Amino acid sequence: MNKTERLPNWLKKRAKLSPNRPALEFEGKVLTFRELDSLAEEMAAKLASQNVKRGDSCALLIRNHKDSVVIIHALFYLGVKIVMLNTRLTAAELIWQLRDSEAKLLLSEQYFCEKLNDIQSFMQEISIIEKEDLASIRGIEDVAILEEFDLHETATIMYTSGTTGNPKGVIQTFGNHWWSAIGSVLNLGLTEQDSWYCAVPIFHISGLSIFMRNVIYGMKVVLVDKFNETEANQMIIENGVTIISVVTTMLNRMLINLGSEKYPNSFRCMLLGGGPAPRYMLLECKEKGIPVYQTYGMTETSSQIVTLAPEDSLQKIGSAGKALFPSQLRIEKDGLEAEPNQPGEIVVKGPNVTQGYLNRKEATDEAIKNGWLYTGDIGYVDEEGYLFVMDRRSDLIISGGENVYPAEIEAVVSSHPDVFEAGVTGVSDEVWGQIAVAFVVRKPGSELTEKQIIEYCLTCLASYKVPKRVIFCEELPRNASNKLLRRELRKRLED
Ligand code: ATP
Ligand code: MG
Repeated sequence: MNKTERLPNWLKKRAKLSPNRPALEFEGKVLTFRELDSLAEEMAAKLASQNVKRGDSCALLIRNHKDSVVIIHALFYLGVKIVMLNTRLTAAELIWQLRDSEAKLLLSEQYFCEKLNDIQSFMQEISIIEKEDLASIRGIEDVAILEEFDLHETATIMYTSGTTGNPKGVIQTFGNHWWSAIGSVLNLGLTEQDSWYCAVPIFHISGLSIFMRNVIYGMKVVLVDKFNETEANQMIIENGVTIISVVTTMLNRMLINLGSEKYPNSFRCMLLGGGPAPRYMLLECKEKGIPVYQTYGMTETSSQIVTLAPEDSLQKIGSAGKALFPSQLRIEKDGLEAEPNQPGEIVVKGPNVTQGYLNRKEATDEAIKNGWLYTGDIGYVDEEGYLFVMDRRSDLIISGGENVYPAEIEAVVSSHPDVFEAGVTGVSDEVWGQIAVAFVVRKPGSELTEKQIIEYCLTCLASYKVPKRVIFCEELPRNASNKLLRRELRKRLED
């Protein structure tokens, strides 16, 4: 094996370089890197006593908690591959992923006892350990800790959100995580005061990647169990948080909560990803001087691959930016590179991009060609090379020969003051081929009508994009990652 492809164990190295620096704040208590390392070592010794060993795959079903971070490092210390499970999945969905990943061990916590019971009754073959059981166990002495991480080794298996179909297990190597962290810092930079607020789930790449940066950069992370907008704003205004990772719904709630207050200058980055960002929200942030950085990425790219640069955050509204330093981006239309402003499939490449899906050769071959990942997302690059993400290819509506992007319509409908949220999908139509139908959740007490919504859309959308039907509903179907399931909307229509 080539020597240069191994790096010293990350947390061990970090604990040597900057032992006394704050590493992790959780529930008001701060751990230094030295303390985090000792806890991880202790945890590794306990897990080793339970016969957890190098080369094993261990599934994790854990909430955002200090112990979860310790467990992740402990498993890395032991050379165990981690299958990250989404805690919002049902027992049946978890069983599907456990079987698919072939994990023999599931590490979890009492909080999930009901799901764990269900899993155990259907899967006698899997050993389940609750973290509480480990408290009283004595770890083995002289546990063998991995001194180096091989960048080609699998660190984590993480399932895609299952928005367009069944979730797929993405293989993420140490190298993928390493390059993802490097790409991010070469864009966002790093200061001694940095403190990254993690209110996104650790089981998702948006959360896990913060903990890779944590040890690689030697940067403090503030972790919370659940997102709360009042608390998040307070942490930024009063407690020195400089960067926060958010998705649109979180940002929306933070803006409402913030009102006319302002963030301090020390707050330098609102990293917004995971899905489309409505323009009105970005404009509101611009008005308030909030440094929003739109970013584009996916489980397959181990977090961001395209992100706005600091100097563009308030200029290039709506763009996800340019490919990060180690990565490349191209828009493909009919097998050729698209012209500027011409929509096509977003294709990306880089050392942070997965080598493929677990046990899915066909899906891998379909997605990765000549080292380029075909994302299934549609977007365009403007004359200056900035990416604009439009929508998923599978959700595209073709109406009267024109391409209609549901995300664009959703953003417009959602910007109506009486609308809480909206989802749009296409349905077949004899005249137009397909037409757009909007599902709308009104704000409490609103009497908004279908006609009013259509009239509102006509003021800001070309008429072929305006939904021909509006269906009011109580809530929109979402998956365990809280992403809108447009395929469920289509099903509702068919039913
Ligand atoms: P599945 O692959 O199983 O359908 P998923 O694609 O939702 O699920 P993730 O990897 O969690 O699973 O999400 C990545 C996707 O999120 C991207 O492919 C893209 O569709 C969407 N996304 C991410 N960032 C942006 C962005 N800035 N703008 C629009 N969409 C985005
Ligand atoms: Mg996907």
